[in-house]
Amino acid sequence: MSGKKILLTEAEVPQKWYNVQADMPKPLDPPLNPATKQPIGPEALAPIFPMALIEQEVSTERWIAIPEEVMDILMIWRPTPLVRAERLEKALGTPARIYYKNESVSPPGSHKPNTAVAQAYYNKKQGLKRLTTETGAGQWGSALSFACQMLGLECTVYMVKVSYQQKPYRRSMMHTYGAEVFPSPTDRTNAGRGILAKDPECLGSLGIAISEAVEEAATRADTNYSLGSVLNHVLLHQTIVGLETKKQLEKANDKADIVIGCVGGGSNFAGMAFPFFPDKLAGKDIRFIGVEPCACPTLTRGVYAYDFGDTAQMTPLLKMHTLGHDFIPPGIHAGGLRYHGGAPLLCALINQGFIEAQAVHQTAAFKSALQFARTEGIIPAPETSHAICVGIQEALKCKETGEAKSIVIMFSGHGYFDMGSYDAYLAGKLQDYEYPAELIAESLKKLPQV
Ligand SMILES: *Cc1c(COP(=O)(O)O)cnc(C)c1O
Repeated sequence: MSGKKILLTEAEVPQKWYNVQADMPKPLDPPLNPATKQPIGPEALAPIFPMALIEQEVSTERWIAIPEEVMDILMIWRPTPLVRAERLEKALGTPARIYYKNESVSPPGSHKPNTAVAQAYYNKKQGLKRLTTETGAGQWGSALSFACQMLGLECTVYMVKVSYQQKPYRRSMMHTYGAEVFPSPTDRTNAGRGILAKDPECLGSLGIAISEAVEEAATRADTNYSLGSVLNHVLLHQTIVGLETKKQLEKANDKADIVIGCVGGGSNFAGMAFPFFPDKLAGKDIRFIGVEPCACPTLTRGVYAYDFGDTAQMTPLLKMHTLGHDFIPPGIHAGGLRYHGGAPLLCALINQGFIEAQAVHQTAAFKSALQFARTEGIIPAPETSHAICVGIQEALKCKETGEAKSIVIMFSGHGYFDMGSYDAYLAGKLQDYEYPAELIAESLKKLPQV
């Protein structure tokens, strides 16, 4: 009996990140200049990112050492437990073994500081004084505020105005970690002033907040920009999660048959799944399932094509699954899953048939979240609930077939700042939303011609 929590010692934490670019059957399509549509070189990113991160972005080295100073901060909460969800298994009556990797134990409460700390470190090392970023639901903003405080950097967060008003405690958390937080659109940037001139009451969007944060970083020498998902270096930093999980399964004398994670930009799921990718390539029978909301069905109903990362069309074009750069998803409660695109590395492996994608409705996700909270105790983030929902579906399939599969769920974060969403669900006020096919088709007409 391996016990309920499978723990590693600090000495057993992996010292290197795993770079899936070393093992991809086909190399990634390069990012393109938004104006010329020609491949851009790494130097194009230098005004907003430090060289070390740009090198990681394009590296094909299989293993990249984690700097000691980064490791030292990660050790505040790492290694994280892999927990056998026996009470959930019993409630479902399944022969499956369900494990969850608990990334909610980090100080800001999600997987996001795994990359925030690394990004703050490389910026600090290059002599930068400040980082800017955007945040929607507030999880990325709180992770970066925490990381900047740990490394002695200033942090400026452009928070989508509607969330700034609706999620006061995420904002308080950022203030507690010493960050400045502005409701976006602001009058601090040209991008923000332009929007406000047209619509003084504008409640903002992630696309606008990105434009503001990027503009500030590009125009100030002491300031860089930091992104919490999508980019290759972000996914790289998250692989510490999957690498720990592999060691933990070994300790439990078990293996993974199905690996499941929710997908916004793709970083938590990729961080869990990619370290298992070489096993799949070597012929092992292992399924990877990324789960997105039906209301923002990037992977399951978008197209695989070059598109902009932001609404204002300032970012390079990335080859990814996309719903179109000005697609505006409805205001579902899993704010962290409302992005029109996906990580190019994850999308490429989906396109090549190695990774599956599924979409679930938010009421189904919350139903699963409640079942999880009422058996395992932890209240999941609305985003995380999407992964739990498919984990439960797979466990119930095992109940029908009698198969005793091992199901590993990436538990990306807790929901203790999302109780308003739980209130809405418990009051029966949450509605499902299936994005109309005509509107998706309409949005996809605006993809750049490459
Ligand atoms: C941000 C966030 C996500 C979605 O982002 P990914 O890059 O897809 O991981 C999922 N879960 C939680 C708890 C988050 O904070």
